[in-house]
Amino acid sequence: MMPSDRPAATADRPRRVAVLGSTGSIGRSTLEVIAASQGRFAVDLLCGHRSVGPLLDQAAANRPRWLVVTDAAAAADIGAAALPAGTRLAVGPERLAELVAGPEVDLVVSAIVGAAGLQSTWAAVAAGKTVALANKETLVMAGPLVMRLAAETGGQVLPVDSEHSAIHQALRSGRRDEVRRVVLTASGGPFRTHSRASLAAVTPAQALNHPTWSMGPKITIDSATMMNKALELIEARWLFDLQADQLGVVVHPQSVVHSLVEYLDGSVIAQLGPPDMKLPIQYALAYPERYAGPARRFDFTAAQQLSFEPPDTERFPAVRLGHEAAARGGTAGAVLNAANEEAVQAFLNGSLRFPQIAELCERAVAEHPFAADPSLEDILGLDAWARKEVRTWMHC
Ligand code: NAD
Ligand code: MG
Repeated sequence: MMPSDRPAATADRPRRVAVLGSTGSIGRSTLEVIAASQGRFAVDLLCGHRSVGPLLDQAAANRPRWLVVTDAAAAADIGAAALPAGTRLAVGPERLAELVAGPEVDLVVSAIVGAAGLQSTWAAVAAGKTVALANKETLVMAGPLVMRLAAETGGQVLPVDSEHSAIHQALRSGRRDEVRRVVLTASGGPFRTHSRASLAAVTPAQALNHPTWSMGPKITIDSATMMNKALELIEARWLFDLQADQLGVVVHPQSVVHSLVEYLDGSVIAQLGPPDMKLPIQYALAYPERYAGPARRFDFTAAQQLSFEPPDTERFPAVRLGHEAAARGGTAGAVLNAANEEAVQAFLNGSLRFPQIAELCERAVAEHPFAADPSLEDILGLDAWARKEVRTWMHC
């Protein structure tokens, strides 16, 4: 590599990255991006929940200072001899929150799935870190609080979610007061063309078979219900400080156009690429720099078609719930998110039918004691409330 190819700020040493959720889909792609970064980045901390075998393999390959296992029972299986020289073991979410805030960490990749990602993301933002955020649930639950905290500490929240990465990139084309609206693309998931009646009978295996993206099980089910787009609408509202009526969704089955920003003059700026999370991950890690990395490239020599259609909120009511929760703000996102996590788990276990996921979410949001300006404690309390209620309703 030519020395001039390296950004000046990192020319002296690699930026040290904490990868939270390293055994997951985003975590593994992040390690590929780091491995192909030609010394721009180095792994400082790896964190996984229970998959000790893959985590130890990752530790051997990356030699982090810290290996964090959040599940104490899983950590008990790790003998000292299993760790590479120079790597120490830490256990539990509290230790993780302490370590991500440490001075040795330059960048935090937040890729734990679900509400479990909030605590460590919060700790990183509170310590003024740059956070590459895949864990959209953090902003769905507590977007205004997290963004306010970042403004106070100087922490930076950069999106890894492909739609939000596209929006972040497209927003570099104009001034913020020139933006008319932001349109998130959605693949439509595996049931895009299914009738409403047939959705009642779909199985977890069918729902886990996503047409364009390879992802962890929870977000794959969220894509099938289109709850993923609901969560992303809320994420976009807080991340980019938009009004809810500036946000739209369009179904784009090829997952090549990752989202669009429409400016006041009618110009629409989009970001395109094959569906490969390595590109938004690299963009978040290297921002504001770009370099030739390992992500797949768009092939303009092959014939292909890009199509767009409006979402059908009759068959996919989650999209409507997302618009409503984005408009309402307050505690609506946290309750929607918690109800969804419980319902998705039940669907995956075979104890809930597919359309009931959105039904239970809608009921939880409708029945919860709404607060417009909640504290973090209020949010965590309502997260627990929604999970308990949804479990009760499922068994009635
Ligand atoms: P995944 O299921 O593949 O991986 C989840 C990771 O979180 C694993 O490392 C697991 O060990 C860890 N984890 C699970 N429960 C935990 C807990 N209680 N405490 C600590 N760690 C825990 O999920 P994924 O697909 O990589 O998604 C991760 C996050 O990124 C999600 O918030 C998802 O919405 C978001 N995201 C994913 C994609 C994608 O392409 N996979 C795209 C955009 C956003
Ligand atoms: Mg996305």
